[in-house]
Amino acid sequence: MGQNEQVAVVGAGLMGTGIAHAFVSSGHTVTLIDSQAAALDKAHHSIAKILSDGVRLGKLSAADAAAAGQRLHYVASLALAPTDTMLVVETATENLPIKQTLVREAEARFAVTAVIATNTSALSITEIASAAKIPSRVIGMHFFNPVHKMKLVEIVRGLETSDGTVARVRAWSAAIGKTSIEVNEAPGFTTSRISALLGNEAMCMLAEGVASAEDIDTAMRMAFNHPMGPLELGDLTGWDTRLTVLQYLHQTLGEKFRPCPLIHKLVKAGRYGRKVGRGVYEYDDQGGKVPNSAIKVF
Ligand code: NAD
Repeated sequence: MGQNEQVAVVGAGLMGTGIAHAFVSSGHTVTLIDSQAAALDKAHHSIAKILSDGVRLGKLSAADAAAAGQRLHYVASLALAPTDTMLVVETATENLPIKQTLVREAEARFAVTAVIATNTSALSITEIASAAKIPSRVIGMHFFNPVHKMKLVEIVRGLETSDGTVARVRAWSAAIGKTSIEVNEAPGFTTSRISALLGNEAMCMLAEGVASAEDIDTAMRMAFNHPMGPLELGDLTGWDTRLTVLQYLHQTLGEKFRPCPLIHKLVKAGRYGRKVGRGVYEYDDQGGKVPNSAIKVF
């Protein structure tokens, strides 16, 4: 894939922000789309910060950072994205009807040669693609948070995804410096299936009083060399997103994925994680974990 192709990223949340940054940083022109003006504003500030941090750390020149900023455009709907867009990465809220509507809108707006990728954490690519007239060009392109640090893209084939679409998405992934793996569609793919189970079990252990949140996280970091503990990771992912994924895996793969009641409680309390400053732990304005701030279950 050449540089400076038009890419559209739909959904300017946690993931869309990182994905848009990854594509502009590697020379593509990106339209970032969100129905919420506040999300676009926040994304704009976050990307400006990632770019300026990159300059401060000597990872890119001030001129390259400025050029990347100029290649990034913010709009409120897919209908305003350039018609010569070659790749759409849908990364809106984890909800099947929303994603299917966006697939239909992308097909109506872009050429038949455009690839429509979805960053769903666990939903069926085949089912998302069933909304398309040409399902062979719909594919899963699963990124990880934070996108600018995580090297993997999990490429997920739906039932009708073509070899050509897989090859193009592998090339785009390489062009933005990511390692890709190919997965045949199954609920939760490889990564979400394992990670959701681990995070759920950690939460059940916390609820049972097996150990404190800090000690459960320390155990996984120190005993198994995980860079983060499962509760810290849930705070980063967002417990609202994690709950939706677990509910889907529970429905499709069975009992072992039943969400721990403590996750329901956290979500009801609005303790979604880092993005709102409170999850299992609390975070300060700079995103730093507040010492001794873990929720007390008993
Ligand atoms: P988020 O809630 O931070 O952002 C979602 C954004 O989508 C919101 O800003 C919302 O306004 C926007 N949106 C909703 N409907 C829209 C529409 N019709 N048109 C335009 N914008 C719309 O969510 P997120 O954490 O960025 O997750 C986005 C997707 O990525 C989900 O499918 C999620 O499962 C997946 N994902 C999340 C993670 C993670 O760690 N959070 C990791 C991998 C994949």
